[in-house]
Amino acid sequence: MAEVYIGLGSNLEGDTGSPETQLDQAIDSISRHPDIHLLAVSNRYQTQAIGPGSQPDYINTVARLNTQLSPLDLLDCLQQIEQQQGRVRTIRWGARTLDLDILLYDQQIIDSERLTLPHPRMHERAFVLAPLQDLDSSIVLPTGENILSLLANCSDQGIVKL
Ligand code: ATP
Ligand code: MG
Ligand code: MG
Repeated sequence: MAEVYIGLGSNLEGDTGSPETQLDQAIDSISRHPDIHLLAVSNRYQTQAIGPGSQPDYINTVARLNTQLSPLDLLDCLQQIEQQQGRVRTIRWGARTLDLDILLYDQQIIDSERLTLPHPRMHERAFVLAPLQDLDSSIVLPTGENILSLLANCSDQGIVKL
């Protein structure tokens, strides 16, 4: 059984509701999946969008789960949930109803076309590191970096705990 951390983010109202509701629904879908055991969900954080143009703020959170799904099967499952909640892929880093990223899958390192693990930008994102810290401040990346020191380097990013 792998231990996995997933990053969740939303900054757009979908047909089914606000960013907060989008996260609620995604967590619900993840927790109901027969091959996923949801262990914990972090605090939520409000974050300024990093993508192109002006976009609404994001709401972000992180979930810890156990699963027997392979990394790629888990990615398929998460992308299906993104689709169910009306995610439309337009420009890179554009606004979206829901983004589900695999941050860590045990200590696996993968660099394939569809999947990079650990998530290639997690180490520089306060909106990922702060919720990870809520769940387990002793997390160490496969590179040997610990999340507390990575988070200390992101102190200028102005995220707000909700
Ligand atoms: P970012 O990766 O900077 O957070 P994003 O989440 O907006 O950007 P997406 O449009 O959601 O990017 O995903 C683009 C592609 O990234 C996906 O089609 C997926 O194949 C790939 N990808 C690579 N590594 C991961 C990962 N660890 N988790 C989720 N998707 C990944
Ligand atoms: Mg993302
Ligand atoms: Mg993504």
